[in-house]
Amino acid sequence: MDAASRALHVAFSAMLGACLGSFLNVVAHRSVIGRPWWGAERSVCENCGRVLTLFELVPVVSWVVLRGKCRGCGAAFSLRYLAVELTGAVMAGVLAWRWGIGWAYLLSMIAAFGLFLNSLTDFETGYVFDSFAAVMAAAGLIARAFGGWWALLDGLIGAAAGWGVVAVIILASRGGMGWGDAFLMAGVGALLGWKMALISFYLGLMCGAVAAVWLMLRGKVKWGRHDAIPLVPYLALGGLLTLLWGPRILAFMGNMYIGKPFRTDWPF
Ligand SMILES: [Zn+2]
Repeated sequence: MDAASRALHVAFSAMLGACLGSFLNVVAHRSVIGRPWWGAERSVCENCGRVLTLFELVPVVSWVVLRGKCRGCGAAFSLRYLAVELTGAVMAGVLAWRWGIGWAYLLSMIAAFGLFLNSLTDFETGYVFDSFAAVMAAAGLIARAFGGWWALLDGLIGAAAGWGVVAVIILASRGGMGWGDAFLMAGVGALLGWKMALISFYLGLMCGAVAAVWLMLRGKVKWGRHDAIPLVPYLALGGLLTLLWGPRILAFMGNMYIGKPFRTDWPF
């Protein structure tokens, strides 16, 4: 692929990612407060209740142009909107850069934004919705069905492995992780296959552990209170790292049988 079309893919994907981030922000918030996110309910200013116009809802651009303030009442919009939209843009951009446009891109986008959505609800309330994980698993298995029986089988084993590894931790540690995390990892396994799911989980725990130690050293969290830190964002970070460098990490760990007996044109 030449540099120009690659740059075009990345730019297009980044715009798509910003829109997806903006949409998932609404889905996460309305799920948490128990309102439907589908249907015709318009976005309003949380301060004055004015219905926002299309011009005010363009991801990233509107926030920057309006300097994060409501045009009606001047109240500041939460920085969360900008952060979520920018994160979505960056994630989708790097995934397009890594995979180009194709099946691998589709699978990695579903995985990344599924994890992102669960991170948002975990940040807001510490709650993970099983329904989101179920959608991830279904999407992964449907997409894999197009890749042949081996790809589908890898997704099924992945779902079992992702669920199982968290289940073992729950039963062994009595707390720290919940069944929501198990279903989320089942969704990741269905999308990424069992090897990448386990790497993703391992990287997520490592990122979480590093962050926990850092927060404890800075005195933000009491020693030993690991349950005070939302875990899903770190699982998401592990997932994103895996989507970008998983096969290389696996090779680094000494596994020389990447992709076999799975289809070699199937990246996960
Ligand atoms: Zn307002």
